[in-house]
Amino acid sequence: FTRIHQMIAAHAQTRSDSIAVIDADGKQVDWARYDALVEEAAQLLAVQGVGAGDRVLIVAENCLAVAVLVMACSKLDAWAVPVNARMSGAELARIRDHAQPKRILFTSHVSKEAAAHADDAAAHPCVTCFGALSMAEGPGGAAEPTEPGRDQVAVILYTTGTTGDPKGVMLTHGNLIFAATASRDLRNLTPTDHVYGVLPMTHVFGLASMLMASALTGCTVELAARFSAEALYDALKRGATVVPAVPQMHAVLMAYAAKHGHETLGSARLRYVSSGAAPLDPAWKRKAEAFYGLPLQNGYGMTETTAGVSGTRNPIGDPDTSVGPPLPGVEVRLDESVGNEPGVGEVLTSGPHIMKGYYRNPAATAQAITPDGFMRTGDLGRIDHAGRLHIVGRSKELIIRGGFNVYPPEVEAALNDHPCVVQSAVIGRKAAGDEEVLAFCVPTAPGAVDAETLRAFVAGRLSGYKRPSRILIVDALPAAATGKILKHKLLGTFGAALD
Ligand code: ATP
Ligand code: MG
Repeated sequence: FTRIHQMIAAHAQTRSDSIAVIDADGKQVDWARYDALVEEAAQLLAVQGVGAGDRVLIVAENCLAVAVLVMACSKLDAWAVPVNARMSGAELARIRDHAQPKRILFTSHVSKEAAAHADDAAAHPCVTCFGALSMAEGPGGAAEPTEPGRDQVAVILYTTGTTGDPKGVMLTHGNLIFAATASRDLRNLTPTDHVYGVLPMTHVFGLASMLMASALTGCTVELAARFSAEALYDALKRGATVVPAVPQMHAVLMAYAAKHGHETLGSARLRYVSSGAAPLDPAWKRKAEAFYGLPLQNGYGMTETTAGVSGTRNPIGDPDTSVGPPLPGVEVRLDESVGNEPGVGEVLTSGPHIMKGYYRNPAATAQAITPDGFMRTGDLGRIDHAGRLHIVGRSKELIIRGGFNVYPPEVEAALNDHPCVVQSAVIGRKAAGDEEVLAFCVPTAPGAVDAETLRAFVAGRLSGYKRPSRILIVDALPAAATGKILKHKLLGTFGAALD
């Protein structure tokens, strides 16, 4: 393959009537139909003047239309820019002005957020065989040049924005096909698999390791517009075989299962569960494994690396807290000049998974990718004797207190270990020439636990300098559509309650 839509066309030939996609509303689409819908979407876009090198902004929550439109852009050599409908109008405007799309499509038939954005943009209804969408004209900047082979850009994906404003990452067909292959092989996906698709396809883990890996394999992907513990539990009971998710989803499912007295899942079909995109708490891993009766595999990556850098391949109950060895074909090394501790350094990675660059930001690209092709991840890690990578935290989030390193994920893990804590977020704040450690915790139920109890609880688990100076109990943490916590919004959201 040199283009991602060719994966669909290939299955349309060989397994035309097996189920490719179960849409968020339950409708089933086989490979022949999927391929026909991609062709129809390509024609629709072409009639609208979309051609090679044009950007198409897709404001969406997971549904068949997103997959069809991304593949249709591939057919036209256009660049798909899928973004989550749950972002604010201001965030969306920023991305629209940056990506300069020719057309904007809104999945308004399945997402009220998308419908609201469509209204703001005075979009027109657009009835297609893959859904009643809305369409608007975009600013329509000049078309980008088309590249031969796999170097053609397929998508621009915006980063989560955990540390600041989201950055537009150009991923090529080659990047996506490589990531799909790596992910298929890591999970041993086969055409009989039934993947539960709740990771947003507007984020790299959902697009690459879920949609693209399923498209390459020819298995079924069941799309969910958004995460609900109840819906995931139901899908597991109905026979989903593979569930890629972020740690927060597993944590919420565990809380749901505990509340409903489901100690174990007891599903005969589930065979692979994974966690990625954010640190996996060891306590959650243990609880999740007890519930699923399967190992919870941890994958590490970022938008700029088309998701996969490394992944664990462990048996159940393995206490390994690493993110596993690098994926085949991927190189990882540490830059120990960053990190303030021997053996710990910034994780650098190179291989066919590295982005083409940040869109319209060559300076940021030059800063992120070394002259010899290594991506600076901004994550601090170490590599153990077995060649497994351990992520200790982000360099931007490293707290240096009294000269000692405090890694927020370690403090979060200690707090999450308390049975009445669902999740927590830890950040540093400059105070009197030093840094203080602030913790924000979500309890299992309002009033289930107070700050004093948690302070005493972590005192037995963390050395003095790692213990939070302040613990704030909050209803919910600011999160992205994936469930990832947006740490840079914590002080803005809760700062007043701290002082
Ligand atoms: P931004 O770059 O906009 O600040 P972001 O880095 O969160 O946001 P993503 O590309 O979605 O955007 O996330 C990649 C980051 O997520 C990685 O750099 C790493 O910090 C974190 N991450 C991903 N997988 C794991 C994992 N398995 N364990 C620990 N951290 C992880
Ligand atoms: Mg990042």
